[in-house]
Amino acid sequence: MKKNEHVNGICCGYTKDGHGVVKIDGFPLFVKGMLENEEGELVITMVKKSYGYARLLNLHKTSAERVKPVCPLAKQCGGCQLQHMSYKEQLRYKKQKVQDVIDRIAKLDLKVEDVLGMEHQLYYRNKGQIPVGLKNNIVQTGFYRINSNEIIDMNTCLIQSERINTVLAVMKELLVSYENASVFRHLLIKDGFHTGEVMVVWITRKKNFPHKEDMVKELVDRLPFVKSIVLNLNTREDNVILGEEEEVLYGQSFITDTIHGLKFHISSKSFYQVNPVQTEYLYGKAIELAGLTGKELVLDAYCGIGTIGMIASKQANTVIGVELNSDAVKDAIQNAKMNGIRNIRFFCNDATKFMMQMAMTGDTVDVVLMDPPRSGSTEEFIRAVAAVKAKRVVYISCGPETLARDLEIFAKCGYRAQGAWPVDMFAFVDHTECIVKLERVN
Ligand code: SAH
Repeated sequence: MKKNEHVNGICCGYTKDGHGVVKIDGFPLFVKGMLENEEGELVITMVKKSYGYARLLNLHKTSAERVKPVCPLAKQCGGCQLQHMSYKEQLRYKKQKVQDVIDRIAKLDLKVEDVLGMEHQLYYRNKGQIPVGLKNNIVQTGFYRINSNEIIDMNTCLIQSERINTVLAVMKELLVSYENASVFRHLLIKDGFHTGEVMVVWITRKKNFPHKEDMVKELVDRLPFVKSIVLNLNTREDNVILGEEEEVLYGQSFITDTIHGLKFHISSKSFYQVNPVQTEYLYGKAIELAGLTGKELVLDAYCGIGTIGMIASKQANTVIGVELNSDAVKDAIQNAKMNGIRNIRFFCNDATKFMMQMAMTGDTVDVVLMDPPRSGSTEEFIRAVAAVKAKRVVYISCGPETLARDLEIFAKCGYRAQGAWPVDMFAFVDHTECIVKLERVN
């Protein structure tokens, strides 16, 4: 098989990124935008040792799950990968993706449940992180083209909340009228779904620039739901989005939102789930699986601003939260106070170090709720979970491969996975969230 060769093939499944897989004499080719069971003519674009890439030229047979993208920028913009897939097929692909890693990496005999899908698949995100640039002196706001840092200019993103789109439109006008686009790197917009409060973070190259105050005034005059404007100075040369130094330009340094009837302060740098409707289901399911009776000592590891632990605290004796980001821990402490929750304590530490310390001092824990970042947890953390004799673990994961890797370690440490429940938090995007319940068996 060679580059530029034309072949005909049938798509037999998906890669983890949602590309189609076509096998030619057993050799897999990855084909962007091809759906399972489709047949077509491909041109090979790259050949590696054990796999290759090809581009779809013509479809001879089209899948019933192929849909016209709702977004006119779907082809160029790197934000969404699944715009050509029906929502039903997106959920089937995500379930299969979790099942694949459980079979292949964790090597467990565990059947993944159907993905809990979203009722409304548009305008769902409460957080937009939008690059700003200039092209031929014209202001550009939009996400990057895939594998590139070219901004695909857009005025409305169909998966961002309507308030985020409104803020983006006004900010774009202000950047044009005050000629300040070259100062801005990104706009970070956070929308409190239940409260309607919006935070706008101006991620800029300079602390001071002409008409800074005029822009603040005009933004809040025109959009009274903007309750916080924060300037985040980022002079770094890499692609990390947020800088260290911040200045509150208007209102407070946080906005408030609610989940399961509790209030949460969210600041610019702390993590908060991006799909508020599905978050209610995700946390509800996780806490249901924790099987709490009111007597337990619960550890909420990678707790962010304390959301899961605080919701679980109503059904537990005591909750301990551990989180590395100090801004998130400050929010968490404040959040517990604001909600009058007294049986929770937060620690700012690396979850692994914290857990190993607990194990070393002979502490025990009844239930561990863990929600690590995409890179997953660590072997030391998992060994320490076993050492503190946790009876049950509920693992919330946004990275199926690291989840599977960690489940294999849990199995070695005497924990049996009881089930896997994916929850869709990201319609049109290839990200996949999944909850796994584990019980100690020896
Ligand atoms: N459970 C929270 C946050 C989940 S996101 C929620 O649902 O909102 C994962 C969190 O893990 C982030 O807040 C991140 O700051 C934190 N984190 C990343 N690495 C960590 C580590 N080594 N130790 C503790 N927390 C960590």
